[in-house]
Amino acid sequence: MFSSLKGRTVIVTGSSKGIGRGIALRFALEGCNILVVSRNRPEAQTVAAEIAAAGGKAMAFAADVTQQLQVEAMARAAIDAFGAIDILCANAGIFPAAKLGAMTGADFDLVIDTNLKGTFLSVSACLPAMKAKRGGRIILTSSITGPVTGFPGWSHYGASKAGQLGFMRTAAIELAPYGITVNAVLPGNIATEGLAGLGADYIRQMEASVPMRRLGSVTDVANAALFFASDEGAFLTGQGMVLAGGAILPESLAALEA
Ligand code: NAP
Repeated sequence: MFSSLKGRTVIVTGSSKGIGRGIALRFALEGCNILVVSRNRPEAQTVAAEIAAAGGKAMAFAADVTQQLQVEAMARAAIDAFGAIDILCANAGIFPAAKLGAMTGADFDLVIDTNLKGTFLSVSACLPAMKAKRGGRIILTSSITGPVTGFPGWSHYGASKAGQLGFMRTAAIELAPYGITVNAVLPGNIATEGLAGLGADYIRQMEASVPMRRLGSVTDVANAALFFASDEGAFLTGQGMVLAGGAILPESLAALEA
């Protein structure tokens, strides 16, 4: 149905686990070369080895997306290993909870630095290569939390995820003349290692709040990223796609129970 992405090079930040790992495995299945990026090299290496064992091409790279020099080295590593950067999935993110009153300036800065500034730094590092070949796909992992919904403890997180969409809209206009698109996936609650850390009660409550009565899978999110990256998605830019099993739709709990 869609043109092949075989041979395209994809950088996926935060792909040692969770949604990023799902994106990396899905693009690898399409025949893409994958740079698996996280701060922890052995975990990234495990995902790269998993891709290689399935017949794909991948390399692990350790970088902290809050560090400009490290993300610039990440971009160079992709070019050195695979000759290009066709697709950037800026996915690395953290979601430590802290309610207002208890949240410190340092808590706020860490979330914004990782989720929002990390997006800016990752995109900036990949731009020279994309501009030079006059084409590219940038896919941000935002969230429903912030752009669409709120949840106690995540005011800093929500601000970072809504901020990504503000960044996206102007970046999409600036980069359109170069044939580079910038879009975002907005996942609801997705079953990942990070989410498991929030506890079984949280997960049960979230499942109950989704009209489809399940959490999303990392593949649900990866499939949307794949569409944004496809040749068929060339005219689609500056857009967010909500993947939440209908979780943002009910007006009240009664709407779910009816
Ligand atoms: P996860 O399971 O905790 O995985 C996070 C990944 O990001 C790991 O690979 C982690 O590896 C990496 N990472 C964290 N900080 C980093 C940094 N400073 N530099 C580079 N890599 C870093 O999280 P997830 O649930 O998959 O979430 C991934 C993205 O999806 C995040 O942006 C999150 O906000 C978003 N999201 C998740 C959900 C959900 O329900 N799970 C819903 C909406 C949006 P290292 O720790 O080794 O660096």
